[in-house]
Amino acid sequence: MHMLQFSDPDTEVRNLIGGGWIPGGGPVAELRSPWTGQGIGRLFASSAADVATAVKAAQGPARAWGDLPLKERTAVMFRFRDELFARQDAIANSVSAESGKLLSESRAGLLKGIEVLEFALSLQNLDGGGKMLVSTGVTCEYRREPLGIVAGITPFNFPAMVPMWMIPLAITAGNAFLWKPSDKTPLTSLLLAEAARAAGLPDGVLSIVQGGREAVEAICDHPDIKAVAFVGSTPVARSVYVRATSNGKRALCLGGAKNHIILMPDADPEMAASGILASFTGCAGQRCMASSVVVGVGPVDDIVADLARRAGAMELGRDMGAIITAESVEKLRNAVGRAGSEGAQLLADGRGSIPVAADFGDGNWIGPSVLDHVQPGSQAACDELFGPILSVVRVENLSAALALENESPYGNAASVFTSSGAVAEEVARQAHAGMIGVNIGVPVPREPFSFGGFSDSRFGHGDITGMDGVAFWSRQKKVSQKWSLQKDQNWMN
Ligand code: NAD
Repeated sequence: MHMLQFSDPDTEVRNLIGGGWIPGGGPVAELRSPWTGQGIGRLFASSAADVATAVKAAQGPARAWGDLPLKERTAVMFRFRDELFARQDAIANSVSAESGKLLSESRAGLLKGIEVLEFALSLQNLDGGGKMLVSTGVTCEYRREPLGIVAGITPFNFPAMVPMWMIPLAITAGNAFLWKPSDKTPLTSLLLAEAARAAGLPDGVLSIVQGGREAVEAICDHPDIKAVAFVGSTPVARSVYVRATSNGKRALCLGGAKNHIILMPDADPEMAASGILASFTGCAGQRCMASSVVVGVGPVDDIVADLARRAGAMELGRDMGAIITAESVEKLRNAVGRAGSEGAQLLADGRGSIPVAADFGDGNWIGPSVLDHVQPGSQAACDELFGPILSVVRVENLSAALALENESPYGNAASVFTSSGAVAEEVARQAHAGMIGVNIGVPVPREPFSFGGFSDSRFGHGDITGMDGVAFWSRQKKVSQKWSLQKDQNWMN
């Protein structure tokens, strides 16, 4: 009954080096679809030597691409946008088949990625530098320069969107970009690369090295890679940040999250129930912007009960997609069980849910769970579980809710559902998170507003999209010039 097309189990996931598809020299891993468990490809992991080969092949292209005027680079990126739109069905299918997302979610992720590309396309009009007469006959100007060869390491949960936070800005800024996709969801990288090549992006300006830890460490260590962006879990984000910066690179590493929604008793019940449901079940809870804790302030029982009823009625495979691996399903099942044994009320228990289609039977499935009266400080209240589990913690007032939110070591997103402007403003001011929502469950900023959290959700300075992203992938040169015949003395002469 499903509409997904699965790639052949013999599909080879290779590296893109200097325009050729070359298998990595590391171990080979079977890729399985979270929907059905069937084989959908074979990943050839990369060794440090493969990373070195890719960097070497990118050196000439990096220089030539960086020397082109911004407008010429942008012309290629305009065609890249066309090619992505022309392939959007195939890309969305690939994202869904390998990550377990619903097709609608995969399509939305791609469109959000294209929005970053559109921001990059506008740089030729927005980012003209600046020049000023700073003294008689003397001008000062800004020039933005590329860094050379830069790298991006991306997570499984957004195989198209997260790379598209990086690729358009890094490449439009004039760099050669080396991409290390998730080893769990590498197939979509083949389609994005084909779109870039069809757009006329020169060979070597976008390279791909497949694989896992060995490739990542080689990227952090390679002296000719000047900047590393990473998106993934907090422990790996932290270690990549430390390793890359200790090797003298700039690094921006986005990590995991535990996002809170403060639910006030004056919230619009429909808006709150549908917004919270979408936040914790969208992408089956596998997104860094998912809210996994509701901090219920005072009498919010009706809304929580409605949420649990709606969650229990969701159909797996139709309303919610699959979980990335069988091991992750097991961890989620254990987390629900542990919360129950620690006293939480299981208003909805996803462990018994079965998918709507019989041929999803060998996939990785768990339904949404709503746990009420979860203890602050417990695993369900504090840890990133990365699945469709909502923990409801009860508090008496707004200050207690904010104190609980502030205690989290993460700081990606926080939201409030309320009909009071004053409460909304208090949460926007006091919550410790980089992205705040008011009556919005997934407060992802739209471009040109940039994406990024605080604390353990982001190591490094600045956000990954918007003008911060442009700054990350470039450096500014200040050029002062005197072209004047007059000989007056002043402090600049
Ligand atoms: P992950 O940390 O396991 O993997 C991320 C990348 O690092 C992948 O490319 C992977 O191959 C590589 N990797 C894995 N283990 C490594 C190791 N030990 N050393 C070096 N590299 C390693 O993350 P994931 O499971 O793919 O993605 C889910 C996580 O990403 C969640 O924690 C989620 O919150 C986070 N995430 C954060 C954001 C954000 O914007 N902050 C966005 C999406 C996902």
